[in-house]
Formats: sequence, C-alpha cells, structure tokens
Amino acid sequence: MASSDRPIIITIDGPAGTGKSSVARQLAARLGLDFLDTGAMYRAAAAIAIDRGLDLSDHQPLVQAVADADLHFDWSTDPPALLAWNQSIDARLRDADVTAIVSPVASIASLRRLMVQEQRLIAAEHPRLVTEGRDQGSVVFPDAPVKFYLDASPEVRAVRRVQQLRQAGQAPDAELVLADIVARDASDSARADGPLVCPSDAIRVDTSTIPFDRVVDELERLVREKIGVDG
Ligand code: C5P
Repeated sequence: MASSDRPIIITIDGPAGTGKSSVARQLAARLGLDFLDTGAMYRAAAAIAIDRGLDLSDHQPLVQAVADADLHFDWSTDPPALLAWNQSIDARLRDADVTAIVSPVASIASLRRLMVQEQRLIAAEHPRLVTEGRDQGSVVFPDAPVKFYLDASPEVRAVRRVQQLRQAGQAPDAELVLADIVARDASDSARADGPLVCPSDAIRVDTSTIPFDRVVDELERLVREKIGVDG
C-alpha cells in the first residue's frame, strides 16, 4: 500500500472552547486528511429533539428520530456539511437552545451507541481522518496511532467562545457563556458512557497561552514525527 493510502486516524479530544474544531480542521488540511466534527452529530441530535418536540427523558423515540434522520456528511463541501433527512442542519447547530441541551442529550447511552457506530462507519469510508470530540481516543478509536487532548482554562475558553459567537452575529452574555462551559465540562466528565477524559496515551496540549497557528504547528510536527504523513 502506498504510504499516502495508509489508514491514519488522529483523535483530538477535550472540553468546549479549546479550539478543537479549528485545530482539527486545519491539521487535517495540512496533512491531506478528512476532518470529522463529532460534536456536530450530538448537536444535530439535540436540534432534532427540540424541533420535533421530543421529550428528553423518553430515549427510544429520540434515538429513533436521530436514526431516521440518517445523519451523514456531505464530503464535497469544506468543512463537510451535516445532513439530516438529506437537508443541511448546520445553521441550527450553534443556536443557544441546542447548546443548552446538547450535553444531557449526549449522556443518553443508546444515542451514544448509535453515534459510535456511525463514527466507526465514517472512518471505514474515510480511513485517513482527523476526528475531534470527547470520546474519540478513549472509546471510538482506542487504537488510533496519534491521540491529542487539548485543554485550556475555563476563562480563556469562555473568552474564545464569546468571540466566536460575536463573529457569528450573536450578542452573548460573557458570564452565561462561562457558566455554560463550566456546567458542560462537569456534565460531560460525569456521565457513565463516553465521558470526557484524557486517554492515558494521549498527548496533552494546553492551548491557554499558545496562539492557534502554533498549536497546529506543534500537532503537525508531532504527527509527522510519530507516524510520518505524506501530503
Ligand atoms: O464540541 P462541541 O462543543 O460541538 O460538542 C457539543 C457537545 O456534544 C459536548 O458538550 C458533548 O456533550 C457532546 N459530545 C460528546 N461526544 C463527542 C462530541 C461531543 O458527548 N464525541
């Protein structure tokens, strides 16, 4: 197999606001790999629950609705658009009502089983992948040859999230954003299935004081050093 055809899964996990999505996307572009945003899949599940008026405590209909939506990515766009019932759901994913319930939705064990299965199917079709989320290195791809865990202080992450939301035309309350981040960290870390953890074999990078480009430079250097990647 030519080295450029070799399967490579790189996982990036960490809490909200560490810059995982931007870093993962940029790293994938530099290495010529595909990019998977698994948070988008859980956000889509939360959006489906709200928009269909589903009760979050009644798991079976919720998981069935997500299965019926046949969530999949359109890999012809950059970044890949997430489709539900063959329609892009991207515009809904960062809305405040979705963010408010995504963590409880993501704690539903049967939903996580569906998502893990979907993510492994995606990796089977896109075996050269940078995937980011909370459980990618710990649960979904435990054998990934390179795993990263990005971290930053809650205050730094809240400032970044406020900037992102402002750029998206929203007018966020900084204190509420910080409170949401702290609450989401606690809920993501405490759940029984696929909790937010730093895998023991992951490289931990604190992005609090490092500029975005330097984080990507460092991850790219580490990947090339560890496994060598063409492209
Ligand atoms: O990364 P992002 O902030 O978009 O993720 C939204 C939420 O989705 C997280 O707070 C977490 O509850 C959930 N999530 C998860 N497992 C993943 C990715 C995201 O539980 N692999």
